Amino acid sequence: MSTYGIDLGTTYSCIARLDANGNPEVIRNNEDDSNMVASVVFFENEHSVVVGQAAKENIETDGDRVVQFVKREIGKPDNRVYEFDGKTYTPVEISALILTRLKNLVESQGGTIENVVITVPAYFGLEERSATKQAGELAGLNVLSLINEPTAAALSYCARQFQEDRTILVYDLGGGTFDVTVVQMTMTQNDSGNDVQKINVLATGGDDRLGGKDWDDKLFDYILHACCDENGLTPADIEAETRQDIRSKVEEAKRKLSKKQSTKVRIDVNGSRTEVSVKRTDFESMTSDLVAKTMNFVEATLEKVPSAVIDTVLLVGGSTYMPMITDAVEKKFPGKVQQHDPDQAVAKGAAIYASMLVIEENSVGKGEISSEHGNGAPVEHAEQLTAKFDVEDQTPRSFGPGVIDTKGNKQKYVLENFIKIGEKMPAVFSKTYYPLENNQERVRLRAFEDMSTEDTIIPCVDEDGNPQATDPAHAVKLLGELVVNLPPETSRDTPIKVTFKVDASGVHVEAVNTITNEIFETFLRTGSEIDVEKSAVHQLRISAD
Ligand code: ADP
Ligand code: MG
Repeated sequence: MSTYGIDLGTTYSCIARLDANGNPEVIRNNEDDSNMVASVVFFENEHSVVVGQAAKENIETDGDRVVQFVKREIGKPDNRVYEFDGKTYTPVEISALILTRLKNLVESQGGTIENVVITVPAYFGLEERSATKQAGELAGLNVLSLINEPTAAALSYCARQFQEDRTILVYDLGGGTFDVTVVQMTMTQNDSGNDVQKINVLATGGDDRLGGKDWDDKLFDYILHACCDENGLTPADIEAETRQDIRSKVEEAKRKLSKKQSTKVRIDVNGSRTEVSVKRTDFESMTSDLVAKTMNFVEATLEKVPSAVIDTVLLVGGSTYMPMITDAVEKKFPGKVQQHDPDQAVAKGAAIYASMLVIEENSVGKGEISSEHGNGAPVEHAEQLTAKFDVEDQTPRSFGPGVIDTKGNKQKYVLENFIKIGEKMPAVFSKTYYPLENNQERVRLRAFEDMSTEDTIIPCVDEDGNPQATDPAHAVKLLGELVVNLPPETSRDTPIKVTFKVDASGVHVEAVNTITNEIFETFLRTGSEIDVEKSAVHQLRISAD
């Protein structure tokens, strides 16, 4: 039995397990001399697919055969596919190639890998989650569970420092995304009376188009212009090979500037060697707007939880190695900032969680605990570390039906959020509605998903099924509809009880005609083919007369 945690990142991925003492450790990628595997795939030819740093080396020269940032595409409704050498690949299949590379890393070092927990951003909807799980299965892994990245980061921080009730802000600046999450850790007692830590996500925010890549791009432009100035050229004169040379060196230069005040980059500019010197202060001034942008997202996320008092800020993600980030966050939260292996915290937390699940399964399923755990870690060590945590599975979105509000002088089609983002799963909620009219033949009950925590919002289609302007911040998505047939001569006072049940696999919608006791039900998941008939008036209304 070999259990691992995987951080399947937008730009870098990482795999970890518990060592013989029950402490999390990452599996080193010796080939790239790194703790990470770049989440980049190069389709070299029909016989060769390269994953990792070597694939990255081809971005400028062979960009059309390189796939990066695939995490932004996974589980998205546009079903994007990539085509190389006559074969097509879905984002799930590309992600599976990255996961296979991580699996090979373990196997090449003599390990076996079976059970894994894969991390996902807290804001991923159900479809992104199920697509991630599918990618794991395609790579031949047994995916025990998924865990939210900030929750995993909090787990790995707490493993080193067991804390009391805390409200933690996780500032995760990776390569292509910036995520802010407020998580709450509370001490409770489990069924056996032992103290456990519960970790709940209170609010999420950020930008899935902001990350270390933006810092690289600024540095790339700076070096490119310096090369032009030095050689009396314009950017249009710079050859693709030179661009690739700069591209390959900017990230390393950026990393050096995290440690040193200045660095030199040597570039072969169209055949002539040019040395460009970059000072940290220059790098900081050319990217100060990016830092400010992240802090604005921090403010906006805090506004979602006005009563929260932040006790600790955890810096996560490789880009938080940049001193300008630590400085900006420290300025906002003096004395509260913690940073330890920011690029590994998520994978390590996933490894801890994976071990927790295996121990639980062994003790519940077989009535005994096996003597070996993970990579041979004595089970009591792993238990000491993991017994203290209890991670609740939470709803990644809010869910509810579209119904007619007849109150006031104008009837309105509204979305009633039955189940709110962040509720414990499985989450269940019921409410009774009424047909809009007497003798209504049927009801088209539409189910929606959104990011709002409000009770009622405007859905993305109106009662006739026509698109409607919604606040994009609420990301309202139509999941599908349940058709409820009503018997002839149904009165508009007939109570119809509507129930939503949400668990990790999707949304179960049920409607019961409480007079005939006839039950109608459907199972919906985000991203599935939506077949919704446009039809006026076949709706339910909120209040009885
Ligand atoms: P992901 O976004 O895939 O979760 P990571 O959290 O590993 O990725 O962050 C990757 C980003 O961190 C990349 O842009 C990388 O260049 C950057 N990074 C890693 N180490 C450093 C460092 N020492 N200084 C500055 N940036 C770094
Ligand atoms: Mg990450």
